Amino acid sequence: MPRARKPDDIIPPPGDNIRIIPLGGVEEIGKNMSLIEYKDDIIVVDMGFQFKDDDTPGVDYILPNTKYLEDRKDKIRGVLITHGHLDHIGGIPYIMNRIGNPPLYTRNLTSIMIRKRQDEFPHLAPLDLRIVEKEDTITLGKLKVRFFSVSHTIPDSMGVIIETPYGLIVTPGDIKLDHDDGIPTEAEEKEFGRFKNEKVLLLMMDSTNVDEPGFSTPERLVHKNLDEIIKNIKGRLIIGTFASQLERVMKIIMIAEKYGKKVVVEGRSMKNNIEVVLNMGMLTVKPDTIITSTEMENYPPDRIIVLATGAQGDEFAALMRMSNKTHKFFKITPRDTVLLSSSIIPGNERSVQKLKDNLTRQGAKIIHYRTSDVYIHSTGHGNSGELKWLHNKIGEKFFMPIHGNHYMLSVHEDLALSIGIPKENIIIPDNGAIIEIQNEGKTFVRLPQEAPSNIMMVDGFSIGDVQEMVIRDRKMLAQDGIFVIVVSINAKTGKLKKSPDIIARGFVYVRESQDLLSHARMIIKKTVEDTTHNMNPINFDFVKSNLADNVGRFLFQKTAKKPMVIPVILGV
Ligand SMILES: [Zn+2]
Ligand SMILES: [Zn+2]
Repeated sequence: MPRARKPDDIIPPPGDNIRIIPLGGVEEIGKNMSLIEYKDDIIVVDMGFQFKDDDTPGVDYILPNTKYLEDRKDKIRGVLITHGHLDHIGGIPYIMNRIGNPPLYTRNLTSIMIRKRQDEFPHLAPLDLRIVEKEDTITLGKLKVRFFSVSHTIPDSMGVIIETPYGLIVTPGDIKLDHDDGIPTEAEEKEFGRFKNEKVLLLMMDSTNVDEPGFSTPERLVHKNLDEIIKNIKGRLIIGTFASQLERVMKIIMIAEKYGKKVVVEGRSMKNNIEVVLNMGMLTVKPDTIITSTEMENYPPDRIIVLATGAQGDEFAALMRMSNKTHKFFKITPRDTVLLSSSIIPGNERSVQKLKDNLTRQGAKIIHYRTSDVYIHSTGHGNSGELKWLHNKIGEKFFMPIHGNHYMLSVHEDLALSIGIPKENIIIPDNGAIIEIQNEGKTFVRLPQEAPSNIMMVDGFSIGDVQEMVIRDRKMLAQDGIFVIVVSINAKTGKLKKSPDIIARGFVYVRESQDLLSHARMIIKKTVEDTTHNMNPINFDFVKSNLADNVGRFLFQKTAKKPMVIPVILGV
């Protein structure tokens, strides 16, 4: 639970200070969004969303709270998007119109992915998308912004450099390093060598993998191993991976073509992403390398590579449907090999297990990143060794860890302390924390006030932050079900016209609980008649609340469950 916040906080204007507010992504993985404010100008970096979790049943997505920006729309000069992953672009269709649709700056591929998503929301005003490349400098209000390229898992990822009068504010977005055995490549040396003669005032950096030691597996190594497997595989090879691992997806297609194999693509997000890079010319293959699932039977299994979504065991994704025989075109056979080129996102362990069970029941052989003796997956986020190297290269004065749960941010603080950044120069933020660089760049402070940070939810067609009751109800319904009581009473005397009706769902099996129900009926009758005795006119709300209390208490005593009790009274 977030800490209690004072709703009546009056946030002072920033004056001559530089203000930084992380609106999301610093108490969770996902919904990354921050703002930098100086005098009359606000720059926003990233606009992600987060998928629902166990705390928000039935909700589609969770968004950062943008109230602070909504109240200061006229100061927003631009939104910078670091790359095309949903935890950085997912919020755009829901948030941009709330904050006045300011110009969006990003690189080419990201801009196309944003546009493609936006097409699904035809009622929205068109976005003002402006493409920047890494050598560009743009001016937003009185601030200048430059870019640099970073290694991640999707092409066109970029870092952001904001020039302020007191030094640079730098944030790389999601980042890892390309390296050989822990020695970053020449390209990385060159990219980050640029900071040697710069005065970096503040660094905000990814903390996703900070508690992993050393250097993460370079993606190049994964490509090399996939090349070997694709070359030598006997039978059909089905590769499950994330559509967001776009660099790897492109590489797999290229390798397949190299060995004269055909690629079948399964899953909407995978198809979409491949279509984007093909249209852009970022990926070029012969016209018959990618084939449809119906063309598959024209080729021997040894020549077929299937790229599929659903390596996380997602119920409706292609791989799961293949595994449980509900896929229209695919039947898994004992000659198939399924390669799961992804790690398991925490929380998905059980569904991945189920997926593997189903696949082995069909006789498929499974190669998983834990069972494989070569690397077939790597992360998009640098381990502690890479982050340390980056801190040393960037040489910031102040540091704010972002992208991670509170624990990861605090591990990142330890890392920063270990390389000599003084404690007073580091702030671990919460969502909505108001952080300022004051005294012309000399001090780094967190204000006692906070920007609104309760989460916003996308629930079907509505977006809002006042749905705690709805969520609480859904949790209650999911856990203990619902118990509806319908009583018709004589509106004058308060006597019951007939025995009360009871409708129970998700609570007890009614046919086997007749004792419980007839006991409940007696309590209902007694409650109504006691409450309405000598009451004229009858206060229906009062009767209902007594009914809910008494029946709820009785059911809890008998079953240790707390179904949602809904009394309905008909006065006749
Ligand atoms: Zn990313
Ligand atoms: Zn991310």
